Amino acid sequence: MKMKEQMVENEFKYSYQKTMLKKYNANLISCNLRLPREFRYFPEFYALQDILEELFKSHLNVYNVKKISSFDFGWFLFSTQGDLQKLKKELVSLEENSEEGTFFDFDLISNSSEVISRRKLKLPARKCIVCGEEAKVCIRLNRHSREEVIQKFYESLDNFFLGQPKSRLATRIAECCISAALLEVSAYPSPGLVSPFDQGSHQDMDFGTFVISTAALTEVFSSIFAAAENIKNSDELFRRIRAIGSSGERKMFNVTKGINTQKGLIFILGIIIAALGAVGLNSSYNEQAEYIRKMCQGLVKKELKLKQDNKFATNGENAYLAYKITGVRGEAEKGFPLVFQVGIPVIKKGLAQGLSFNDAAIEGLLNIMQALDDTTLIKRGGIEGLILAKETSRDILNNGGMYTEIGRVKVQEAHKKFCTLGLSAGGAADLLAAALFYILLENKYQMLFYKK
Ligand SMILES: [Zn+2]
Repeated sequence: MKMKEQMVENEFKYSYQKTMLKKYNANLISCNLRLPREFRYFPEFYALQDILEELFKSHLNVYNVKKISSFDFGWFLFSTQGDLQKLKKELVSLEENSEEGTFFDFDLISNSSEVISRRKLKLPARKCIVCGEEAKVCIRLNRHSREEVIQKFYESLDNFFLGQPKSRLATRIAECCISAALLEVSAYPSPGLVSPFDQGSHQDMDFGTFVISTAALTEVFSSIFAAAENIKNSDELFRRIRAIGSSGERKMFNVTKGINTQKGLIFILGIIIAALGAVGLNSSYNEQAEYIRKMCQGLVKKELKLKQDNKFATNGENAYLAYKITGVRGEAEKGFPLVFQVGIPVIKKGLAQGLSFNDAAIEGLLNIMQALDDTTLIKRGGIEGLILAKETSRDILNNGGMYTEIGRVKVQEAHKKFCTLGLSAGGAADLLAAALFYILLENKYQMLFYKK
């Protein structure tokens, strides 16, 4: 099956190349993504296309390199002019010496259909990513297991996407993200959620899991902010932060031994700090929300509507398929109104009126919960679970929320009930963390979590 696919692909490439040679009467650079086939719909795939164009722009300026087309099986074709031998040497140098080059194979074809190979120029053959021997030989002899190769590619991707240089500001932003995530999981009673006091309705994670998982995300958040400081185009930035987020998820799964603690948080906070980096720290919430809307425009359509046949769907994807609920992607596309218009003002008001940081956070959570179509709730309790959670939080707020004795008793009761029913408002908790991020970033409040 795989062999046949490969042959069909090769035949297609060959005939397409021939047509393009005729059409452009130029030399062609044929770029193949070196990633195994299953990577080809990963977020990294889309970010790497941008990186490839950037690489050519910055290194092959004199060769007039222009993109002709890209195919989603990982093939990109460029036209080019100039000295073929010199260009081939440049391409080989990119393959060998640049970090980005690890991910591509470059073939150079003259306008008379001649392939300018390494061997013709007496250059050493391409090396294997795993062992450093000649790549072709390793493939022919089947020297490495699939897992070994994939592991190596993951390492290279993570090194690249998390290893870019970072400003001190990016580090400061990451600190606020980490603190916000830790304070969110520390807040109690949070209906059904993990806290320092119990596991909520979760069997497979506790406070310690969250502490470890959160700490592992430091580099992810600083990398996202750093990308936003450098990438000017909003579509490109979004593709890049999804790729960085994907490396972040791998780090998270690695330290939690496969438990999904914070995929949603990486997505939400990632988008928020990317927008912050893009429009600047002096911008207003409105400007940031506007940038988020621009960056995430069409996200539901792209990622949910087109994924109807995906066997490996996430909670959000399943909820969309079953109830047309757009979840966190829909919130992103709206510019996270529940963060900017609900979470932040509710928490600020609470702090101004003398609630402790803990209580203001819970008040924020309840306000978000009553409005959010939380796909984590749907996954754990069906649509009935979602309705119950929204009604419960509304009832608590109608009774004064964290400002009154009865409200506080009702939150405790809700927590017990959610634990019994296995309900957890994980999506609302992630949005709360995002709101807390801003509270910490603005740094105006005395930080005593439990003060009376
Ligand atoms: Zn090898």
